[in-house]
Amino acid sequence: MPPTYSLGTPTIPSFPDWERRTPAGLEELAELVRQAASSRTPVYPIGGGTSLMYGGRPRGAGWAVSLQQLCRVVDYPARDLTITVEAGLPVADLQALLAQQGQRWAVDVPQPDRATVGGLVACNLSGPRRFAYGSVGESVLAATAVDGQGMIFSAGARVVKNAAGYNLCRLLAGSVGTLAVLAQLTLRVQPLPETTAFVVARLEDWDRTERVLAWLMQGRVLPTALELAAGPAWAADPLLGPLRPPAKGWLLVGLEGSAKQVAWQLAEIQSAWRQEGLREVQTFGPPQAELLWRRLTEFPVLPGWDDAEANGLPPSRPVSSRLQEERFLVAQASLLPGRVVGLVSRWLKMDAGVSVLAHAGHGSLIGYFPLSAMDGRRCIRELIFPSVEDQGGYAQVLLAPTDVPFAPTDLWSRSPAADPLMQALKRQFDPYGILNPGRWGFGVQ
Ligand SMILES: Cc1cc2nc3c(=O)[nH]c(=O)nc-3n(C[C@H](O)[C@H](O)[C@H](O)COP(=O)(O)OP(=O)(O)OC[C@H]3O[C@@H](n4cnc5c(N)ncnc54)[C@H](O)[C@@H]3O)c2cc1C
Repeated sequence: MPPTYSLGTPTIPSFPDWERRTPAGLEELAELVRQAASSRTPVYPIGGGTSLMYGGRPRGAGWAVSLQQLCRVVDYPARDLTITVEAGLPVADLQALLAQQGQRWAVDVPQPDRATVGGLVACNLSGPRRFAYGSVGESVLAATAVDGQGMIFSAGARVVKNAAGYNLCRLLAGSVGTLAVLAQLTLRVQPLPETTAFVVARLEDWDRTERVLAWLMQGRVLPTALELAAGPAWAADPLLGPLRPPAKGWLLVGLEGSAKQVAWQLAEIQSAWRQEGLREVQTFGPPQAELLWRRLTEFPVLPGWDDAEANGLPPSRPVSSRLQEERFLVAQASLLPGRVVGLVSRWLKMDAGVSVLAHAGHGSLIGYFPLSAMDGRRCIRELIFPSVEDQGGYAQVLLAPTDVPFAPTDLWSRSPAADPLMQALKRQFDPYGILNPGRWGFGVQ
């Protein structure tokens, strides 16, 4: 029986038994939150249910408020490259609509058929394409939401150029539903690229890797993603596994654009890498490149990661048998891109079972840490967090086996100076503390 991954057992222990509320529209959602505020009932917003284990355990039973009926497209002026949709719209449905106009929302989403636009913005975790297109939060131009007293408010504007006032959209993105329930979002979208390719190199030493990455970031070529992959999870990968195993890892450069742009960049990169002495280089065009994008996006996803079955939803895809059998903790770090290689090398030295994916271009790392020989809490507090904080970075736990005891404050790097500010914001948006109580750290309950 594979272990389940979450921060509770399961994360929302009795989610199926909770009182489910499914408001039909914005006004009904606001009325529901007003009722919850007056009875001090916790409100847990639910999108597609794919990331309910992200963040701390919910504190006490309450209303599971499903956004599934808020799934309309409100406005789509395709020529402006913006779209306004309700928060419960599944990402795959949004992408299908945009594709009809040759456009897309340039985000990387595990399980897009279930994940919703609101859930994605609430978590604000980005994937490989962030290097070229910015974070999920940066693509949000406007939001309409309901605060913890049931008041409807709007932030931002439905236009790409807009700089008035505080940028509340950035505040709401990543607040994991603890400040407001997102009801409607205006997103900046992009033209669909004509084609895609990956160029992959085996890495034999870190010094050369640093030089190659520095060249790739100088701007002569414009990759969509710069990824470093290392460790046993990648050796089991159907595309990388058959290549000769590298001493250190693989560098994967993702390219998107017109066929001419992609071909030119491929030639430039191959020529630069030859001069640098990188001999073993492989290119992947579509459809293998599409598979690599998916693999890089779904790397953090473990089987059973979302308690799907416990929540009466279809199970998530298996990743590899090795990962199913072992107990892992999944952590993420954010730091300056120039420090990524040093941290990858440090994480790999912790244990032979550690696997890493670094979005090297924008300074984000995801690591799988096997807990067979390590106590989970010690692993995060004494090894992972210090390794990131020493580099001036910031760490968070994405997933942990259910038997690892964590408090919400264990899940994120602490920044004591910011706590009072966070608490003041929380009081302002949600004075009764009813929105996703327990989900967030920072002394904010
Ligand atoms: C290990 C891991 C790796 C991930 N990697 C990536 C990645 O590479 N790229 C990426 O883009 N995303 C990533 N994510 C995030 C994830 O893909 C999405 O954020 C997720 O799919 C959310 O969609 P959902 O509708 O399923 O949300 P749910 O699982 O239903 O909810 C997730 C959280 O958001 C809150 N929430 C949901 N809807 C709303 C709303 N309308 N208003 C307020 N709060 C709400 C919920 O209360 C809950 O706390 C990752 C998540 C995890 C746990």
